[in-house]
Amino acid sequence: MSKINPTNFSLSKLLCKFFGHDLRISKNVTNHIQEYKCSKCGTEMTDTANGFLARLTPKFKETNNYIAQIHKRRRRKNYANAS
Ligand SMILES: [Zn+2]
Repeated sequence: MSKINPTNFSLSKLLCKFFGHDLRISKNVTNHIQEYKCSKCGTEMTDTANGFLARLTPKFKETNNYIAQIHKRRRRKNYANAS
């Protein structure tokens, strides 16, 4: 039976618990809000509107997508005004 090796997975989780996540920015939502992914265990985190770092839940993902859309639209409008 071929399965994803659960030992490796929990080991990287354990390493993150001791040394902290190795978070890389995976997505720029706005200038102030970014989504992060840990390169070791794959845990996804996000900045929240009130400046905290939280686990990226589907609810946060949805909110971020919404914020990103508004942000993009606003930026496009600014460019149009400038030209
Ligand atoms: Zn991690």
